[in-house]
Amino acid sequence: MRNELTRRGFLGAIAAAGVGLEVSENRVAAQGRPQVEVCNPLRRTPLSLIIDDSCPVINKAYYWIKQRHDWRLKYKPDSAPDGWEVHYDKLDKMPHAIPAAFAAEWGEWCGEQGVRGKFSMVPFPAGVGRIDQGFPGFPEQELKDWLRVTKETIWKSFDLTPEMLTHTHVVDLKTWKLTDQWEQGEWVDPPVDQLTEYITAAMQLLKNVGIACDGVTSPGAFGKRKEIAYARAVLDAALAVNHNPRPFYFLNMEMEKMPEVPLRHVDKAKGHAIASIIGCGGDWFGATGYDTSNPDLFITADLQGGRLPAVLAQECPAILVGHWPCFYVNDRIGFQVLKEVKKRLDAYDPDKTKTIWMKNSEIGRYWMARELSDLSVNGAECRINTKFPTDNFTLALHDRALKRVQVNGTDLRQVKSQRDFRSGTFLVNGKETFVAFDLKAGDMALSLSM
Ligand SMILES: [Zn+2]
Repeated sequence: MRNELTRRGFLGAIAAAGVGLEVSENRVAAQGRPQVEVCNPLRRTPLSLIIDDSCPVINKAYYWIKQRHDWRLKYKPDSAPDGWEVHYDKLDKMPHAIPAAFAAEWGEWCGEQGVRGKFSMVPFPAGVGRIDQGFPGFPEQELKDWLRVTKETIWKSFDLTPEMLTHTHVVDLKTWKLTDQWEQGEWVDPPVDQLTEYITAAMQLLKNVGIACDGVTSPGAFGKRKEIAYARAVLDAALAVNHNPRPFYFLNMEMEKMPEVPLRHVDKAKGHAIASIIGCGGDWFGATGYDTSNPDLFITADLQGGRLPAVLAQECPAILVGHWPCFYVNDRIGFQVLKEVKKRLDAYDPDKTKTIWMKNSEIGRYWMARELSDLSVNGAECRINTKFPTDNFTLALHDRALKRVQVNGTDLRQVKSQRDFRSGTFLVNGKETFVAFDLKAGDMALSLSM
């Protein structure tokens, strides 16, 4: 994407100077446009849906507001309510729990629609109960049902991550009691020496119920003032708990500039890295169920306005962010918005040639493959060496209309249209050839016949 933009800018400058465009195209090629470039997966722009604050059994908004209110009266009685606490007067309308049956309905809908992304599973939500030990005061069957639905239905389309331990108070890991500190309060600037142990504990609780997570979600801005140390702690915890050398974390949102996929703590020799997944807009689904909910902020009915068309036009990953409570409470307001947004996105890309829904982990791994693989072209051979495998790896070979492409000796099938362009195929478009295949760790060789 960045190369494309630079290229367009360069051509624009020449065209403005009165030089013929055809000549300038040749000059660009002659002046060292790389012979091969990595494109977006299958030449489609990633879409992804992040769901934060989802917990087994409980409605986190209810407990967060209640605990924050109690904490403020105790420690800062003269201050005004902040964040979700402004909804304290609506607590009696908010359910304490969100049923597993609803999670099943929501997850099945996403599966049918092809919506993919990330779904938090807060492992000790609000300190009410540990996911691996049970929730006192709630029917045992609900937790069992939640675990079944999460693993059997939601996991197919969504990464499951902790959103640290409680998403309210910090836990003392020696006693498993809640402290007076807040994960998204004091731990915005976290004690670095405790971070890895804390994140490891969060991942381990999910592991104890059979969920090997692919990354983490920050509750609020948890870790933000020490982001590099935080990213290191997540990578170390992922290696320790799940032997996962390429995890991701979700901490940041980019509301105006184009979102990127920064990679941190890269070790090319070992094949280790961690991706920062960045949301491209606000939660316009409704957060608690009583906050801003407006599909037009994502994409307007005429498909021109809103944040998503602006991001998709630049071919940057368009990652939507919503908070789980709103999908259920207040007449399922967030679910209604999601259905409308999905309908509009389908209208924006009716033949599915422009966009592709991906899990957060799939986006992170694609960007690692894209930026950390070594590519070289020598005559009719393209060689790739990587420790960062991915599905749907897509290359553009410039100034080559190819007749035949083989990957490690196996022919790719030629397709005639972008609609049919899949992993295992190649597509010729004018003087360019696009190839897509699953990139394996190690060496791969493409033979290119004109
Ligand atoms: Zn959250």
